[in-house]
This record gives sequence, structure tokens and C-alpha cells, in this order.
Amino acid sequence: MLKLYNTLKRETEEFKPLSEVVKIYTCGPTVYSRAHIGNLTAYVYWDLLVRVLKASGFDVKRVLNLTDVGHLVSDGDEGEDKLEKGAEREGKTVWEIADNYIKAFMADYRDLELVEPEVLARATDYIEEDMRAVDLMREHGFVYETKDGVYYDTAKFDEYADFARLNLEGLQAGARVEFSAEKKNASDFAVWKFIQPGERHAMRWDYLGRPGYPGWHLECATIIHKELGEPIDIHTGGIDHIPVHHTNEIAECFAAYGTKLSRYWLHCNFITIDGEKISKSLGNTYMLDDLAKQGFTALDYKMWVLSGHYQSTRNFTFESLAAAKQRRLNWRNKIAEYYQSNLPGDRDAMDGVMAAVENNLNSPEAFSIIDNANLSLEQWGLIDQLFGLKLLEDTPDISANSYALIKEREEARETRDFAKADELRDKLAELNIEVNDTADGPVWRYIK
Ligand code: AMP
Ligand code: ZN
Repeated sequence: MLKLYNTLKRETEEFKPLSEVVKIYTCGPTVYSRAHIGNLTAYVYWDLLVRVLKASGFDVKRVLNLTDVGHLVSDGDEGEDKLEKGAEREGKTVWEIADNYIKAFMADYRDLELVEPEVLARATDYIEEDMRAVDLMREHGFVYETKDGVYYDTAKFDEYADFARLNLEGLQAGARVEFSAEKKNASDFAVWKFIQPGERHAMRWDYLGRPGYPGWHLECATIIHKELGEPIDIHTGGIDHIPVHHTNEIAECFAAYGTKLSRYWLHCNFITIDGEKISKSLGNTYMLDDLAKQGFTALDYKMWVLSGHYQSTRNFTFESLAAAKQRRLNWRNKIAEYYQSNLPGDRDAMDGVMAAVENNLNSPEAFSIIDNANLSLEQWGLIDQLFGLKLLEDTPDISANSYALIKEREEARETRDFAKADELRDKLAELNIEVNDTADGPVWRYIK
């Protein structure tokens, strides 16, 4: 039985999908710069979700959006457009920026062995749907127009505060005075923005007789409506999405279509680096490439992510990444050991691993079980399916090609030709293999 923590109810409950195919939506990246390792944790955890669902016998249809439309830097519909910022920084058009960072994101995605979503939805492909949704919200009386755009009147949606347990009075009292004087309530947000004369904004679409662009949250509601049909089964995102982004997606969906957006909501927590928040000014904004320069692969990083629970705050250090890398090597050497011993696998351990991940995706517990288990090749295959770690692929049985070298070295040692034995040891080391001489004969393992 699969149990998941549902933010909607603030409790862990049994997961029961509405139909045979589990409909999942994952809020994707804004493609204006490289994803840092904090951003990437979310996609690793939601990959685990998809893999666990599949291992539990469910079929999955997942949509991941790519926010390639210019949105404002802050949640509060203020500040500079992120894509315009990227374009200026790199002397490119906003469209080139979006294309380039989609490519970069998908490269990271594949390096991390993340299961491709069934639908990759670029926000700019859904502008028509966005406009129709705004039409519907207008028709249903949920929005009002200002000089600045079309705004959602959050007072019209009784349940607005429910999802994030917001204190709307407090929000109203705390609102800054200069904060869009035309807004009726502090929590109101733009569903569509008008481009003001003189405003630099290359991405623009004509709607309501003026150039403009959709507000940030709208794409998720309209993409879900078009590609999956609400209510979907599971909606995922980071915890920062709860009070604004997801709250507003839910409100828009209700106003446009009169429906609930999702039945289960999963949110992953944030990571810090050396105890600090990730920020450019601290110089700790690492990308996968930065980890590679220090000798760590994407899968070492994935091991690090899955060594913790998606709901806990994690602190990234290079020491903990080194430990995760070592752990992956240890597991690979369990496979190497299996090639040499053919001990039977441990059935209970495998059941324990499945029970752990089905208990609200408890990957750290599953990992501890694997640390102490002897598994068969078939079971390692299941572990690979469950976590996407390429353990088997990266651990070939050397018997076929390098075993002759081990035999030769053995013979050299027997004839006391130590020079030759050392030479063969070095040759094996080049293949990342180390041979230890035991009472039962030589035992090989991977050193990298
Ligand atoms: P950003 O492009 O900076 O808005 O980040 C996109 C998403 O990545 C955010 O909405 C978060 O859900 C996630 N994110 C950003 N920073 C972190 C972090 N330090 N740890 C985990 N997730 C993060
Ligand atoms: Zn979203």
C-alpha cells in the first residue's frame, strides 16, 4: 500500500488514484539560467515518486512544464522579467535564452537518469488556452482589470486561504502601501499583465486590445486542464510554492473551470549549502558541472539527494557528497561480490526496501536497508528501476575480459615473478579494479 503525505490535508494517507492511469503534474523550471543543485533536488524526488508508483503497479501520465514565458522576478507580480534579464546578460533574444536553457535543463535531466515525462509542456505553447481561461474567469466574475493587467479578486474565492492556511487579514494589514494601489486585496494577483508603453518585454501577445503576457501561475492551471484534465491525482512542487504559486493555481482553476485542481499535493523541502541558503552572493550556487569539476557525477549527486527524505531540509557539503559517492561505490562492489560468490539474494531486504519507499517515499530508510543487504542481480535490477542509479550498467562483470589478467597475476605470484605481478596489478588499476589476495584466492573489486 502506497502512502503519501498530502499537503492538502496535512497528513499522510493511502494513495488511491481516480483511474488506472495516475495523472501527475510537476511544476518545472523557469528557463532563464542553469538549474542549480537546489532546483534539481525536486526533480530527483519526483522521479522517485514516478518510479515508486510504477513499481507499485500504477501506470503514470506525467506533465512537466517549462516556464519559457517572461515572468517577474518576485512572487508579487513585481520586478524584472527573468527571461529579459537572461537575454540582457548574454546578449541574446529571450527566445534563444529559453531554447538554450531548456536544452541545458534536459541534459541535466538525462544525466540524472530521470524518467522523461509523458508530456513536456512549454508555457508559450499554451497562450491561447491562457486567454480562454482569463475569458472564463471574467465571465464567472472572478477578475477585474487595472491599468496594469487583469487581476484575480481573491475575496471572490471563499477557499482562497485554505490550501496554505493563510492569514488574509494579517496579509492585508502587512501589505506595503505602494504595492499596486489598484489592487483590491493584498493577496490579489495578476492573471494577465499588460505591457506598458516603453516597457521592454519581447514576449508579448495581443489580448484585450493591448500587448501583454500571462501571469505566472496561469500556465500550470491551463496546461493541466488541456493535457490531463482536472482533478489530477498528484501535483508536485517545492514548499515555497504553497502560499502563492499553488494557492493561485487552485484559485484560477476554480474560477475558470469550476473544478478542483489536484487530489494530492506533494512538496519537497529546501537544501542549504554549508548551512547557508543558496545564493549568488555567497558563491555557493553549484551546478552539476561544478560538481563534475570536483570529480562527482550526476548520479553521485542523485545518491546524495535520495540519501535524505524529500520533506526534510538538507544541508549539502562536499563531505556528504563524497560519502554518497562512496556509498554508490560500495553498492557496486556488492554487485561485484555477487559475481564472485553467487550467494542467494535476501528476499526480506527487498520487501523492506519497497515498504520503505511506499511509506511516503522514505528513500533514506530504503538506502540503509540496501547498505546491509545481500541482493541478487535480479534484485539489483529492481533497485536500479526504483532509483535510476545505473548500478548494474556501471558495474560490468569483469570475468569476460579482465579475469585473464587476474589469473595471470595469480600465476606470476605463484612463480614469484613479482615484477610481472605488479605490472598486472597496475594494468587492473587502470581498469578501476583492485585485487585483494585472500585465503580463498584473489577477490576483485571496483575502486572507482
Ligand atoms: P527559482 O528558479 O530560483 O525560482 O527556483 C525554482 C524552484 O526551485 C523553486 O520554486 C524551488 O521550489 C526550487 N528551489 C530553489 N532553491 C532551492 C533550494 N535551495 N533547495 C530546494 N529547492 C529549491
Ligand atoms: Zn506550477
